[in-house]
Amino acid sequence: MITTETSIGTVSFHINGAWERPEGRTMHPVTCPASGATIAEVPYAEEADIDRAVRAAHAAFLTWRDVPVVERVQVLYRYKAVLEKYADEVAAILTRENGKTMDDAKAEVRRSIQMVEVACGMPSLMMGETLNDIARDIDSQSIRQPIGVCAGITPFNFPAMVPMWMYPFAIACGNTFVLKPSEKVPMTPTRIVELLSQAGVPPGVMNLVHGDKKAVDALLHHPLVKAVSFVGSTPVAKYIYSTSAAEGKRVQALGGAKNHLVVMADADMPKTVEAIMGSAFGAAGERCLAGSVLVAVGDAAGPLLDLLVKRTKSLVVGDGAKQGVEMGPLVTSDHCQRVRGYIEKGVAEGATPLVDGREFKSSNAGFYLGPTVFDNVSPKMTIAREEIFGPVLSVMRVKTLEEAIQLVNSSPFGNATSIFTSNGKAAREYASRIEVGMVGVNVGVAAPMAFFPFTGWKNSFFGDLHAHGKDAVRFYTEQKVIMTRWF
Ligand code: NAD
Repeated sequence: MITTETSIGTVSFHINGAWERPEGRTMHPVTCPASGATIAEVPYAEEADIDRAVRAAHAAFLTWRDVPVVERVQVLYRYKAVLEKYADEVAAILTRENGKTMDDAKAEVRRSIQMVEVACGMPSLMMGETLNDIARDIDSQSIRQPIGVCAGITPFNFPAMVPMWMYPFAIACGNTFVLKPSEKVPMTPTRIVELLSQAGVPPGVMNLVHGDKKAVDALLHHPLVKAVSFVGSTPVAKYIYSTSAAEGKRVQALGGAKNHLVVMADADMPKTVEAIMGSAFGAAGERCLAGSVLVAVGDAAGPLLDLLVKRTKSLVVGDGAKQGVEMGPLVTSDHCQRVRGYIEKGVAEGATPLVDGREFKSSNAGFYLGPTVFDNVSPKMTIAREEIFGPVLSVMRVKTLEEAIQLVNSSPFGNATSIFTSNGKAAREYASRIEVGMVGVNVGVAAPMAFFPFTGWKNSFFGDLHAHGKDAVRFYTEQKVIMTRWF
């Protein structure tokens, strides 16, 4: 049986403009990280559900692609207005199911709205080129056309923003979309899709399904899915990339990260420490741009660590919905245990915990861990090499900028890095030689705005065209060159 009720608390699929809660599907609990309580149930899609969603998207594509782009973006202008109206409500849902603080959630919603704003410029962004008289009396023109049904598979840490790296651009280009968000945080994606319906997107243009690997595999192997956008961990990103490519689909797969923050002795230490705090412990370290390894160059370590340890010990940890809390819980009990395991490994492998997050005691049953700072970390240690995705910062010491560059470039990841210095030449050299796609200079979280692409390298990205910015327009369109002669 299918009901038409909408979402929150009873997370549903959205297929061809209708809210569906099919019976007989495996149901999984969605937990609130701050309290540990179950707040919703999410049904896992079967292959038949994916097939219905993709077919609905395909049917809608046949008319949506012919709607003039200036009309398509009217939906997005209205969507922006609706998102502005409900921004605080979306942020509250986000905090409730993901755990990040309200300030972090509101910032995420703001960034999401910026994606919509940029996609509203599609009439300009999609323009092609012309050259008259490429030969006598022959003119040539390049145009961009939509490609068809696009699928999006997204992670738990940015349940509003990461889906919006994808579908506003895809549908503005004339494609239709099937979103499969993280099963850990299905409520925020459900709400933002609901708001898109409210903005008047035609049935079938935007579809939402929930589930795990089974749902993802059905999308990857469906012949009507023409492009796949993925954001998540590196092993899954590799799998998505190779499977989609083997199926002849266009694919962009953004993976995990291990980001280094390099601090020179001439850096402004108080401001640097504030930036590092935001980078390492913002969103409880559950960010692909989070600073995870602090590389102290030359004499930087002494003054830096004094301030950093003091500030870390004063960080207010608690329920992200409460005023004044600076760091919320981790997303699930399992993930919290996993991060705890990394701290244990760090100690076992000989690193020195200057602040130990395991000592944090919570008054309730949520998935809490305090911030951790490890000193004396060496390149071979697990905590120096693997993505932890939690509030754990490892400090490594090197003598020179050259050594720092070698160390960062030896990482298999290449998502983001930052350098803190007052020396322009050092910053310039670092930005130029570092084999990382997003670089901050005295900026702790090197996050490109919506009009730039999100340019991870190495094991942090598999594909050719990145998310958002002009790359998104290229990714979600096919290019055609037309030669014209009139007799
Ligand atoms: P994840 O890889 O576990 O899950 C991501 C998505 O893939 C989810 O929708 C999930 O249902 C699906 N999935 C999980 N296992 C699968 C499998 N075996 N086969 C097919 N699909 C599968 O990631 P997560 O834990 O939700 O998110 C955290 C990860 O995402 C971190 O590694 C983080 O660095 C990364 N991330 C990267 C970026 C970026 O821009 N590079 C941005 C955000 C998050």
